[in-house]
Amino acid sequence: MNIPFNKPFLTGKEAHYIYQAVYSGKISGNGLYTQKCQSFFGEKYGFNKCLLTTSCTDALEMAAILLNIKPGDEVIIPAYTFVSTANAFVLRGAKIVFADSRSDHPGIDEDKIEELITPKTKAIVPVHYAGVACDMFKINMIAEKHGIFIVEDAAQAIDSYYKDKPLGSLGHLAAFSFHETKNIISGEGGMLVVNDPQFAERAEIIWEKGTNRSAFFRGEVDKYGWADIGSSFLPSEIIAAFLYAQLENLEDIEYRRKKIWNLYEETLKPLEEQGILKLPRIPSYASNNAHMFYVICSSLDERSALILHLKEAGILSVFHYLSLHKSPFYGSKHDGRELTMTDHYSDTLLRLPFYYELTLDQVSFICQTIYDFFKRP
Ligand SMILES: *Cc1c(COP(=O)(O)O)cnc(C)c1O
Repeated sequence: MNIPFNKPFLTGKEAHYIYQAVYSGKISGNGLYTQKCQSFFGEKYGFNKCLLTTSCTDALEMAAILLNIKPGDEVIIPAYTFVSTANAFVLRGAKIVFADSRSDHPGIDEDKIEELITPKTKAIVPVHYAGVACDMFKINMIAEKHGIFIVEDAAQAIDSYYKDKPLGSLGHLAAFSFHETKNIISGEGGMLVVNDPQFAERAEIIWEKGTNRSAFFRGEVDKYGWADIGSSFLPSEIIAAFLYAQLENLEDIEYRRKKIWNLYEETLKPLEEQGILKLPRIPSYASNNAHMFYVICSSLDERSALILHLKEAGILSVFHYLSLHKSPFYGSKHDGRELTMTDHYSDTLLRLPFYYELTLDQVSFICQTIYDFFKRP
């Protein structure tokens, strides 16, 4: 058997919509399919203003520009995250202040944020790891008290909730990813959600290369020109057409992924009860969008051995982030605080194969292979 870690899922309509986009005569960005995708999010989740981008990284970069991040500003982010969460703000000259993870979840430890705030703190960027909500009540309280902005890194968090509120609706700004490793994909792709109306107009200008082109096409201004800094953040209609085919099948994709997730959990639960492994924990305020299934081993050596054992059975499992506060690029700029939980997840978290077409038999086989490793029946 050969089970990859990820396999992009095609709904079947992608090529058809791309064909339509190509032959409609409008292939550049912000056309019909872009509008359809953006409206989808507005209607389903009530997002105020959505702008498709070429990646979540781009959406985060737009957020940093919108917040006027400048040299000397501090931005608090978890050290257990993807490089882009930090890079977007470093590009504007910010100093990154890394926060540790929770002991029961790889997400940011909400109780350790406030002690990191200084008069220079401009933003907090919570990452909804594995699509599981951070405690946004706590984070928003801190932000409000100190007058700080929240940018949700919702890259993995499509169709997931904090209580009854969709992730991506809780920060001033939020960034989603449609990279081929996420639940809903367009190869590369992303989206900025603007929840705070004070940023809505400028977001569109930054998106359109610093011009007021969008307002011009709506007939709001009679000429368009250079209005602000900006860049080429919007994807072509070809990407949006692909994405729309995926969005139309969101419910089916989520249904399937949850089935896979539940079988992993149910099958591996006895190993957790015996204290051998830890499984993902979903806090009571969070929903599960089945973005990822991981196990937490008891040591780095054990995880390395388990990866090898699975590989010998044809199963590709992969660890996740390396602590950003120890990275070659940012390690020397970090303030030296130990972040023990971050290092713990960096050493022991292992992600199991997860994709739409993974069969339930394959999930059982993967679980059995893990039982074999621990020499359990
Ligand atoms: C995938 C991911 C990103 C980057 O998304 P791109 O669309 O590839 O730029 C950023 N942050 C997190 C937490 C991610 O999982």
